[in-house]
Amino acid sequence: MTPLAGLLPDGIASALGLAPAFRGRQVFRWIHRGIESFAGMSDLPAALRSSLDSRADILTSRVDSRSESEDGSVKLRIRLHDGAAIEAMSLQDGRGRRTACLSTQAGCGMGCAFCRTGLMGLVRDLAAHEIVEELLHLRRETGDVGTIVFMGMGEPLLNPGPVAAAVGVFAHSDGPGMSLRRTTISTCGIVEGIRRLAEEGPAVRLAVSLVSAVPGTRAALMPVSRANPLPALREALGFYQERTRRRVTLEVVLIDGVTDRAEDAEALVEWAASLGVMVNLIPWNPVTEIAFRESPPQRVRWFKERLEAARVPVTERLRKGRGVNGACGQLAVIEG
Ligand code: SAH
Ligand code: SF4
Repeated sequence: MTPLAGLLPDGIASALGLAPAFRGRQVFRWIHRGIESFAGMSDLPAALRSSLDSRADILTSRVDSRSESEDGSVKLRIRLHDGAAIEAMSLQDGRGRRTACLSTQAGCGMGCAFCRTGLMGLVRDLAAHEIVEELLHLRRETGDVGTIVFMGMGEPLLNPGPVAAAVGVFAHSDGPGMSLRRTTISTCGIVEGIRRLAEEGPAVRLAVSLVSAVPGTRAALMPVSRANPLPALREALGFYQERTRRRVTLEVVLIDGVTDRAEDAEALVEWAASLGVMVNLIPWNPVTEIAFRESPPQRVRWFKERLEAARVPVTERLRKGRGVNGACGQLAVIEG
């Protein structure tokens, strides 16, 4: 069976040997309108519809469970064809606009000390169709989304091909039609991947989980920084901004006494100012298995003001989806 969700119209036509080629576009449009059976594709000839039934899959995954938090955020646990499980979130802001938070791998091998997904280890990379299917499930369950962020499980820049293919599908005007400016890839700081993204695209927004600009602190929390030290990361971000003319966002997870100290603020000001980047502060979301504490609100305010005083553009992320363990860094499927 050929999985279709990760393909563009031409890809569908050639994978299925469809002639004339516009049949690929018809199938593509139906898939992204949310039709889940070939029988429902009413402008295809009946013989083609029934032959597609035995040759191709619109969805290879299914929703195992859905949980909703008080703020309207919805978390889906999605079961893949081989039994692996991932999670995808639909986060809702105060005006009812939705952001899809998608996974790019089942689990994650990067082992960041503050992250729940990191506890799982890497199960496997997702295929393009599995990433696209996350959005199809979310749209069915919660309606359309206005923004896509690759901030679920996994490290997107270690699975670049499928992520790029999914972005291409999301951007297609016969499909979700998602602008690249409304699509963000978040990376823990893979230098090689950032350079490649700058050179080859897709031209999405880039966010980097800096967490701390103090080398020893970052190294202790994020094993990735051993092979991708701060000076090399800074150079890669400079290159990215120069090439793409887009401002990068640094994500800073505030952990009480660990990443919210005066020295973290000073180092961050220096880092952010030298690159001209924005900073997004994320109060650490509690994870039962991890013995950190979130920064108290007054400390978050102090940290923010310190950046503002140095004219670093700074935003604070809302604590969405906490009630369903679906906030950033709380996504994990631990089965036993
Ligand atoms: N692997 C990528 C994308 C997924 S993690 C990356 O690391 O950027 C998405 C975001 O959640 C990152 O900014 C990460 O720093 C943050 N994060 C991880 N664990 C967290 C936690 N417990 N509380 C708050 N943010 C967390
Ligand atoms: Fe992986 Fe990102 Fe979590 Fe680090 S923060 S373990 S890179 S998902």
